[in-house]
Amino acid sequence: MAKTGHPALDPAQDAYAPAREAMVRRQIEARGIRNPDVLRALRSTPREEFMLSEDRFLSYEDQATPIGYGATISQPYILALMTELLEPSKTDRVLEIGTGSGYQAAILSQLAAKVYTIEIVPELADLARDTLLRLGYTNVTVRQGDGFAGWPEEAPFDRIILTAAPVEVPETLLAQLSNGGRLVAPVGPILDQQLVVVSKNAAGRLDTESACGVAFVAMRPEPK
Ligand code: SAH
Repeated sequence: MAKTGHPALDPAQDAYAPAREAMVRRQIEARGIRNPDVLRALRSTPREEFMLSEDRFLSYEDQATPIGYGATISQPYILALMTELLEPSKTDRVLEIGTGSGYQAAILSQLAAKVYTIEIVPELADLARDTLLRLGYTNVTVRQGDGFAGWPEEAPFDRIILTAAPVEVPETLLAQLSNGGRLVAPVGPILDQQLVVVSKNAAGRLDTESACGVAFVAMRPEPK
C-alpha cells in the first residue's frame, strides 16, 4: 500500500486505540482544544511509536516523558495547545526546532505542506528520521544541527515552532519567518518560561503575546 502524508491505523491491530481516544477526550477536548484538524491528527497518530519501548505504557498519560539524551516527548495537551496556537494550514512550510522523538513533527506533517525539523542530538535526529520514514510521514525532513541557526536554505517559513526553550526568541529565527507568519515558542529561563506567540504582519512588524507558563527542556547552547 502506498503511504502518503500519514499512515492509516489498522483498527484490528491498534491496541492503543481506546487509550488514544480517551487521551483526546479527557486531556485535549475537555481542556478546550477545538481545532478539528488538530484533533484529527492526534486521533490518527500512534504516539506509542515515538516512545522508548519500555515506556510505551505511558504513551497516552497526561505528562511529558523522557526519551533519552535529556529530551522529553511533550505532554499531549501542551503539544495540542501549541499546534492550535500555530494555526498551520495545508499549504504552509513549517520549521520545528527540537525534533526529539519526531511526534510533534508527525502531527504537523498532517496539517501543513512540508515540515523541516532540526535536532541537535545526532542520535535523536537519526532515530526520529527512521521512525517518521517507517510510519510513512514523507513530507518531513529531519536535520541534525543547531536550531539557533534555523534553516537558511529553506527560509522563509510560514510557521516556526520551538519545542526547546531559548531565553529569548532568537533573532535568526524571526528573520526566517515569512511576512504574515507565526512563531510559537516556550521562552525564558528554567522554571520561568512562557509560551509565546509571535506574529509577523504583512509589513514585517512583530507582535508578541504570552499564552501561559510552561516547562520545557532548555535550548542549548545559548549563543554567546
Ligand atoms: N518536539 C519533541 C520534543 C522535544 S524535547 C517531540 O515531539 O518529541 C526538546 C528537544 O530539543 C530535545 O530533543 C533537544 O535535544 C532539542 N534541542 C535542544 N537544543 C536544541 C538546539 N539548539 N537545536 C535543535 N534542537 C535542540
